[in-house]
Amino acid sequence: MSPAGKILKQLEAVCPGRVRPDEPLAPFTTWKIGGPAQWLVAPRDLEEIIALLRLMAENGRPWRILGRGSNVLIGDRGVSGAVIVLGPAWSWIKARQRSGRSVHLDIGAGTPLAEIVRFGLQNELTGMEFLVGIPGSAGGAWAMNAGSRGREMKDLTMALTLVTAGGKPLKRNRKALDFGYRRLDLEPGDVIVSGVLRAVRGVKEDIARQMQSLIRLRKKTQPGTDPSGGSVFRNPPGDSAGRLIEASGCKGLIRGEAQVSEKHANFIVNRGRARARDVLSLMALVRKKVLERSGVLLEPEVRLWGCALPSPARRSGTLS
Ligand SMILES: Cc1cc2nc3c(=O)[nH]c(=O)nc-3n(C[C@H](O)[C@H](O)[C@H](O)COP(=O)(O)OP(=O)(O)OC[C@H]3O[C@@H](n4cnc5c(N)ncnc54)[C@H](O)[C@@H]3O)c2cc1C
Repeated sequence: MSPAGKILKQLEAVCPGRVRPDEPLAPFTTWKIGGPAQWLVAPRDLEEIIALLRLMAENGRPWRILGRGSNVLIGDRGVSGAVIVLGPAWSWIKARQRSGRSVHLDIGAGTPLAEIVRFGLQNELTGMEFLVGIPGSAGGAWAMNAGSRGREMKDLTMALTLVTAGGKPLKRNRKALDFGYRRLDLEPGDVIVSGVLRAVRGVKEDIARQMQSLIRLRKKTQPGTDPSGGSVFRNPPGDSAGRLIEASGCKGLIRGEAQVSEKHANFIVNRGRARARDVLSLMALVRKKVLERSGVLLEPEVRLWGCALPSPARRSGTLS
């Protein structure tokens, strides 16, 4: 049996019936782009995650964690190693009353953000409204420190439970979590399995009103149903990537079936059957044009899996 065949067998022993070899990843992303995972694995509980990480580490094979795939661009040839998805078994919310109006929510990392927002509305808990319309999971939102309108996951998070790359469960409280702009300082391979968010008792009508106004704003400023990966580039300090891209005349540019959105210049939409190489080629073009016009080198916000952006070539001391 080949070494890969042996690992597949061992994976099957760890997560019976929940390992799919050569599984196309495009359907697991909001961009609907990406080649296959060597092994797509859906562990059901903590023991399975621990055994899975140990197995991969012992065999020197890589692994990645995929949430709802709303912030990743996966290469057309896919990725080697295991792609771990935290499915319905990891989607749960439990409320614990704290002192006064404060409530703590224990949340599984696989919980869609839409569920958290709905839970807040139904139970008259305020603080999570800013997550409305972000199509990620709690795990992905923690890993990315997702946010909007000046609020971020960092503001709500009291603690996280991780499994480290060595297969060790670990609880980190608020003070030990180093969140930054669209990032959380994790060790490579760490898996967030759950966390605690702080909410406050509020008034249903106020929560609903705030959510509706944020949804209206999204509809006005973001491409509607066209598949995308959200904001492609990070905002440089003191500026907005969208503004720089628009000022460089990139809105509407097309490569293959990928297009810089006419509505929001920092979104690239899939017009049908776009490939990762179309998106990468557009990203490279946008970067070049913004650099030429503004002198700013944009950095990707989306995580690139199994693909890379060509670095801008240096010519006569300038970037081109
Ligand atoms: C239409 C649209 C609108 C968006 N609007 C916003 C917005 O307003 N604000 C914003 O911040 N983002 C926005 N995004 C981006 C994206 O939704 C967020 O970053 C989201 O939090 C990503 O969650 P995910 O579950 O999809 O993560 P994925 O895209 O699956 O993964 C993103 C990263 O998180 C890591 N990760 C995922 N789960 C775990 C885990 N359990 N443990 C460890 N690492 C993990 C992955 O390995 C990867 O590196 C938008 C995206 C789209 C498509």
